Order: sequence, then structure tokens, then C-alpha cells
Amino acid sequence: MASLEEQINTRRTFAIISHPDAGKTTITEQMLLLGGVVREAGTVKGRQGNFAKSDWMEIEQKRGISVTSSVLQFDFDGKRINILDTPGHEDFSEDTYRTLMAVDSVIMVVDSAKGIEPQTKKLFEIVKERHIPIFTFFNKLDRDGREAIDLVDELESVLGIQAYPMNWPIGSGQILAGLYDLYHNNVEVYRPASATERFLALGADGDLAEPNPLQANGLWQETLEEVELLKDAGNQFDEEAIMNGKLTPVFFGSALAGFGIETFLQTYLTYAPAPQAKKTVEKTEIAPTNADFSGFIFKIQANMNPNHRDRIAFVRVVSGEFERGMDVTLARTGKKVRLSNVTQFMADTRENVQNAVPGDIIGLYDTGNFQIGDTIFAGKKKIEFEELPTFTPELFMRVHAKNVLKQKSFHKGVEQLVQEGTIQMYTAWDSGDYILGAVGQLQFEVFQFRMENEYNTDVVLEPMGSKIARWIVPEQLDPKMASSRNLLVRDRAGQPVFLFENMFAERWFADKYPDVKLEAKL
Ligand code: GDP
Repeated sequence: MASLEEQINTRRTFAIISHPDAGKTTITEQMLLLGGVVREAGTVKGRQGNFAKSDWMEIEQKRGISVTSSVLQFDFDGKRINILDTPGHEDFSEDTYRTLMAVDSVIMVVDSAKGIEPQTKKLFEIVKERHIPIFTFFNKLDRDGREAIDLVDELESVLGIQAYPMNWPIGSGQILAGLYDLYHNNVEVYRPASATERFLALGADGDLAEPNPLQANGLWQETLEEVELLKDAGNQFDEEAIMNGKLTPVFFGSALAGFGIETFLQTYLTYAPAPQAKKTVEKTEIAPTNADFSGFIFKIQANMNPNHRDRIAFVRVVSGEFERGMDVTLARTGKKVRLSNVTQFMADTRENVQNAVPGDIIGLYDTGNFQIGDTIFAGKKKIEFEELPTFTPELFMRVHAKNVLKQKSFHKGVEQLVQEGTIQMYTAWDSGDYILGAVGQLQFEVFQFRMENEYNTDVVLEPMGSKIARWIVPEQLDPKMASSRNLLVRDRAGQPVFLFENMFAERWFADKYPDVKLEAKL
């Protein structure tokens, strides 16, 4: 058995962020294919029938719980990989953001015909705030896309990060011929005639080492000129800047064609950091090699099937080693909990893993003990990790109980679901009305469902639409500042928050009260 340190060093825990349809699922399938978990990928069209999902559903059925594809663990190239899902589309929620608190690096997939899209930008901002290393993959190179140079320019200007192209496309769409790999100093040929022709070596002058028909292609000269430009005017490769999230290595390829994926994954795994230390509330750091087990809960998933009331709390292991049946302490309450009812996330179910080390994710079946952000630890020395950040909600709804006689269970349910991190709650400054805030529509649906099923209370939700929430310090508050276009509310801590109708309303306010500082959460 490898030592704890050796095991930690093989772990790579990351999330893939992208705008819906950029190719996140397809890339994940390709990775599972490379990991030997599935034998085919990309042959079934549509999101419903893809392999990642159906494979996972089978596991779900066997275990009788709903974990969906929240975590996938598999082995590749001597590394044990944990991919954490960051749902988009209609599944977008605060969980999506919180998942980014549990990874050591991020892959950003961008559709090369579309460039940087809104959801990518949103998720990127969170990643940037935390200085997480980020690697960029421009996908769909087999389609006519935008010029590579434009894409890289846009990446740098829109996201405010430096880019370092690791490879460069030789054409795209119909005329895609390959990838000029600046990092490995070779050319990866698109659809080579044989395996031996897949990689062509480059000489010291940057041209192909051996004469090849590729050179007769007009694109080749163009590519050489672009590469020359990159070398002269581009950023320097700087590992420290990558680790601080200031520089993103950029790769091109096609997930659907399985082109450039293997090289990408190998290179990514070389530079992606192994599990990192984590800060505690006392601002000390817990290193992964710390002998005592510790971890924190970043997500709680309620089972939407009424026959299975259990919930699953997702724990990112920070230090030490998890063993089935071990006793831990819940830092918030000081209570002891035995970790016997635990699930792990090996994509390949043949292996029944009994232990987990830093970087790994374990799922605890929960009957209401845990809250998002909770720390659990073994050993005598108390460990409590820094709180998870609160995110600025964008969607709001007024909420009340349908039946006034149900007030008691209504309050209890709201209190618990808010505490658990399902949704955020505010109260109107004047009327005391309850207002729920979320980053995604799904959160309201989960809230409503759980109020009905777990607290036996039907709720009425009145949509207020999207708002811009801005906090101000209480000393600067004058209730007269509130108007029809900026609703004044209290957050759970009693802090004043303005909910602005739109950007213009916020700007108008800022002009009228230039001394008042308006702050967003993450
Ligand atoms: P997700 O929403 O980011 O998970 O995107 P999917 O992986 O589901 O891909 C969205 C659509 O784009 C699907 O129809 C895929 O088959 C297609 N797609 C993904 N990668 C590529 C690619 O490299 N080339 C082309 N032409 N289509 C792709």
C-alpha cells in the first residue's frame, strides 16, 4: 500500500466549467474513455442518452440513491482523478459555485465558434477570486470557428487573465489539419493515416524535422508565421503564474472527434496541482499530510424521490485518511458522528474502495445533522475550516405559507432549509415579508418540493424577477434611500441590502449617494 503522501500526490481534483453546449459532457466522456471506464463515447446523441449519464444512472439504481453525476473518480496515467460536476442549464444553483470551493484546479471549456459566453464568465469570476489554477480548452475545432488569435485575445480581454497557448490549430472545420504543439515540440495530425503518423517531430527551426505532405498545404506557412508571432510577442510560460491563476495554459481540440484530448489531459495532469492545504477559522493551514482526518461539506443533495428521504452530504477530504466506520467530530456542534453510512464515487464499480485520502470526495447519508460548510475531523485537536463564501443571489421570490394555520412548520422549514444552504433568505425592511434569494431557478423548486415533502407545508412563491443585490454598512443607511426601484431588505445577519431593479437603478443610486459604498458578495 502506498504511503499517504504518495496517494495524495496522485490525486487531481477538478471541475470543468463551461457555458451549456460547449462540450463539457463530451469531454468528460472522452476522459472516461481514456480512463478505461467506458468503451465507447460520443456515439449516442443528446444529453439524455449519453454514456456518462447512463453509466452513472446504473450505479444510482444499484445504490438506490440519487447522486447523479456529481463526482466521477477514475484512474489515468498514474493519477487518480476526481471530476466534480458543476451543473449548468436549469440545474444551475449555489451548489455549482460551492463545488468550486472543493477543487484544486479548473478546466474551462469554450466553444471556439462562440467564444466566451455568459455562464463561463460567471463561473470564471469565482475561480479568479479564489486564485485557482485554470486551464482553457477551445473545443469544436472540427467546426468552422473563429480565428485562434481572436479567441485568445477575447479570453484575455474579457476575463482579464493572461493566456499561454500550449498548442495552436492548423486550420479548423473542413480544413483542420492538426495541432502545432509548442509545448511538446511536435505536430499532432488530425485523422492520421496510421498511428505512427499521429505525431510529427519539429526541428530546431520550428519546421517539421522530416519532409511531409503537410508542408505543401498553404495553411502550414500561415501556422508557422502565427507561431513565430506567439513566440515573439506572447506571454512567457510561467508555472508560478499558472498556480496563482494569473496565467491560463490554452489548448485547442475537438471533444467529439477525440482530437487533442489525450495530449491535453496528460499535459493538464502534469501541471494541475495535487490536493492543497486549507485555511481554518484561526487562519492556520491544514496540510493534506496532516495525519488526522479532516474534511468539509460543500454540497448537500436532497433526494427528490419521496420514497427515499435521505440526503447526501458531499465531503471533500482535506487531510489524513478516511476509513469506513471511523468516528469523527462535527466542529460546529462538537458532536461525535460515526462514518459508517458512506458512499464513494469510483466511476468503475468493480473496485470497492474502503479508504479515501485528501482530494477525494465521500458522500455521507444524512438525516439532518449536517450543514453546508461544516467541518468534520478525527483526532483530539479541533479543526474548523473557514466558512464557505456567500454568493450574491440574482433571483428573488416572496414566499408565504398557503395555509395560515401552518405558520409553525413553515417557519421551521424555512429556517432549516436556509441553514442547510438550500436557499438564501431576506426580510423586507418595512413589512417583514419573507423574500428568498437564489442564483438559479432550481433552488426555488427544491425549496418548494422539500417544504411540501419534509415539512408538510404548501408554500406560495411570488416571482420578483432578477435583482442586483448590494450590501451597505448599517451606519450609512437612511431608510429614505429606499424607493420603488431599490427594495430595502435585511439579510439573515440583519445587514441592510438593496435589491436594485437593474443596472440603471444601481447607477442612479450611486450617483445620488456617492459616499455610500455598495458591495456584492462573491
Ligand atoms: P455540455 O452542455 O457542455 O455538456 O455540451 P455537450 O458535451 O452535451 O455537447 C453539446 C453538443 O455539442 C452535442 O451535440 C455534442 O455532440 C456537440 N459537441 C461537443 N463537442 C464537439 C466537438 O468537438 N465538435 C463538434 N462538432 N460538436 C461537438
